[in-house]
Amino acid sequence: MLGKAFQLLVGLVLIAGCAACFVAACASGSKAGSRSPSAGRIIAFVHVAVVPMDEERVLPDHTLVVDDGAIVAVGPASDVKVPEEALLVDATGRYLLPALCDMHVHLLGESWNGMLPPEEQPTREQIPFESFLLPYVATGVTTVQVLAATPEDLYVRERIERGDLLGPRLILCRLVDGPDKAWPPPLSVWVATAAEAREAVRRAKEEGYDKIKVYSFLSQESYDAIVSEAAELGMEVMGHVPMALSVEYVLERGQKAIAHSEELAKHAGKYDAARVEYFAELMATSGAWLIPTLVTTRSFLDLFDDPDGVYARPGAEHFRHPMQRGVWSFMVEKLYLPIPADARADLRDAFYSFQRPLTKAVHDKGGKLLAGSDALMPGLVPGFALHGELKELVDVGLTPYEALRTSTTNPFEYLGESDKAGTIEVGKRSDLLLLDGNPLEDVSATSKIAGVLIRGRWMPAEEIHEKMLATEATLEAAPH
Ligand SMILES: [Zn+2]
Repeated sequence: MLGKAFQLLVGLVLIAGCAACFVAACASGSKAGSRSPSAGRIIAFVHVAVVPMDEERVLPDHTLVVDDGAIVAVGPASDVKVPEEALLVDATGRYLLPALCDMHVHLLGESWNGMLPPEEQPTREQIPFESFLLPYVATGVTTVQVLAATPEDLYVRERIERGDLLGPRLILCRLVDGPDKAWPPPLSVWVATAAEAREAVRRAKEEGYDKIKVYSFLSQESYDAIVSEAAELGMEVMGHVPMALSVEYVLERGQKAIAHSEELAKHAGKYDAARVEYFAELMATSGAWLIPTLVTTRSFLDLFDDPDGVYARPGAEHFRHPMQRGVWSFMVEKLYLPIPADARADLRDAFYSFQRPLTKAVHDKGGKLLAGSDALMPGLVPGFALHGELKELVDVGLTPYEALRTSTTNPFEYLGESDKAGTIEVGKRSDLLLLDGNPLEDVSATSKIAGVLIRGRWMPAEEIHEKMLATEATLEAAPH
C-alpha cells in the first residue's frame, strides 16, 4: 500500500541538499541519557568571545556564568566574579554562540516501518532513539521542529524531558492531509471531510502535539475546518500550500509558516523576476514565516546526478543503522529516481531561478526566515544538514550573521519565546555552542564545535566524540 501511495507523491516531492562539512563532534563517557557531572552545576566560560546575536557584534574577553541552564552573569572577564564552586571552562580564543535550531526535520521511529521489508521492521524497543538523536547534539542543534510528528516522537520527547534520553528539544507538528496520496498513517492523519479534519485537530491536541502541519492534498473544506478548529484550540497551523488552494488563500487565513520555498515555486506559474518579487512581497507583508529548505532541494538535484552520492554526504557515516539506510534507499528508489527528466529539469530551474532569489528577496523585504533542513530525506543527515542550510543561506546573499539569526533568534521569535532564549543575555536559558572560530566571519565555524551546553549540561567536544564513537556499534547492529 505504501508503494502505491508513494507513487502519487512522485513529481511533487522536490528538492535536494548538500549537507554540512562538519568536522569534529562531541560528548561524554556516561551511558546514553544518564546524568552528567556538569548537569545542574554552575559553569563559567572565562576569556571567551561572546557572540550574543542581539546585534552583529562580538564581545571579546568576556566571562559568562550559567547556573542550572540559566545565564546569570555575562561581562568583561575582569569584571565578572566567578563563584568558587563553578566548573571553569577556559575559552581563550573561542566563541560562544546560542545553540542552533533546525525548524524542519523528521525523526525516525516505527511509523516509518512501511518503507522496510517485513523482516527488517524494528519494534519501538529495538530502535536506538538516542543514537539517532546524537548527531543533532554533536552538531550543536539543540532544538528541532518535527514536521510529521508521530506517536513515538511523543514518547521520545517525554523521555528527553525526563532526562532518560539525551536529545534536542522537540517541537511536534502533526501532519494532516487528504487521503490516499502521500505519506500514509501513522506518518500523517488522512481526512476527507470537514468533520474528519476537525476531529484530527482535536485528537492531535489531546495527544500532545504542538502544532498542525497542513499538507498538499487537503481540500479547501478540510483546510478551512483545520484552521478554524486549531484557532479554537489555540494551536498554530503551518506547512505546505495545498494544491487546491493558493499562497494568497493560506496567508489570508493566517497560516503561520510555509515549509519549503519550493511550495511557493509550485504555485508561481513561472520562475521570473516579477514572480519572485510578487511572492517575496506577499510573504513579507503577511508576516508568515518561510522555511526555505534550500539544502533539501540541492540534495535532490545532487541525487538525480549521483544516486550513490547520497551515502557519502557529510555526516553519512553517522547514518548507517539498517533502519536509516533502509528508509533512505526506499525513498531514493521509490520516490526520487522515478521522477522523470522534465520534472527534474523543472525542479532545477525552480531552484536557481525562483527558490534562491526568492529567499534573498523575502529577507531583503523584511520577511521572516527560519533555517530548516528536512533532515531524514535522502542525503540529509540530522544536524549536518542544518549546517548545509546555513551555507545555502549565505550563498544566496545573507551575511553569516543574518543566516545565523534564522537558526538562533528567529526560531524563538516564531515560538513566542524571545524573552527566554535565542540570544546571550542574563536571564535567558539559551543552550550554547563553544566554537573554535568566529561564525560571523565564516558561517562554517559553526561546525568547529569545542563543546555544547544543552539544558544546563556541559559537553566538551571530547565527550561528544567519545559518545559518537560509542554509538557506532549500535548503528551497525541489526535491529533485531
Ligand atoms: Zn519535511
